[in-house]
Amino acid sequence: MSHVFPPDPIPSLAVAGSDDRFPVHRIYCVGRNYAAHAREMGSDPTREAPFFFCKPADAVVPVATGATADHPYPAETANYHHEVELVVAIGKPGSNIGVADASNHVWGYAIGLDMTRRDLQTALKDKGRPWELGKAFDRSAPIGPVVPASRIGHPASGRIWLTVNGQARQRGDLADLIWSVPETIAHLSRYFELRPGDLIFTGTPEGVGPVVRGDIVAAGIDGIGELSLRIV
Ligand code: MN
Repeated sequence: MSHVFPPDPIPSLAVAGSDDRFPVHRIYCVGRNYAAHAREMGSDPTREAPFFFCKPADAVVPVATGATADHPYPAETANYHHEVELVVAIGKPGSNIGVADASNHVWGYAIGLDMTRRDLQTALKDKGRPWELGKAFDRSAPIGPVVPASRIGHPASGRIWLTVNGQARQRGDLADLIWSVPETIAHLSRYFELRPGDLIFTGTPEGVGPVVRGDIVAAGIDGIGELSLRIV
């Protein structure tokens, strides 16, 4: 048996402090998971069940620490938004994972941007249509190196922030997640068998907003890392 054409390489992320790579299987994203951001998007931040959408694995763009990577402004939008998020990297398979056991399935953590064509997402949302055109496009998931949990443990608090051209845009704390990382894993794993290589974007704090060509986007999460992009 041979492939009828050469398959694309498996998308992967850098591992902090190592030459190894973290191979990406799927990308899951939590919709609204910080109260103040839910409010700014016109929702009531109650603890209704978390909801999820996906991006394709090859939407990942590995971003090296300490460099400013060029990030092309995507097609078909006039309102391109940043969303800085804690990304959970799964290392152990499981379905129906319990909250108390969930951290054992986490291989590491990274900082990521859930880049969003907000004008398309809003129009699709208003019509009750799927969000892929707004969320799952090429290069929509810039992510920094994965930091192993064996080194940093499982952070439940820490500042998460994003600036554009040095101006503060997003500021929050991981402690303000409506659904914690273990709760999110427990819920998601009722619907999907989680696999090693899965990534979970855990939601963004308030302050999302547009970027334009020429902007420098910088973001960080205490204890996990920082990344920087130039929109081109
Ligand atoms: Mn998001």
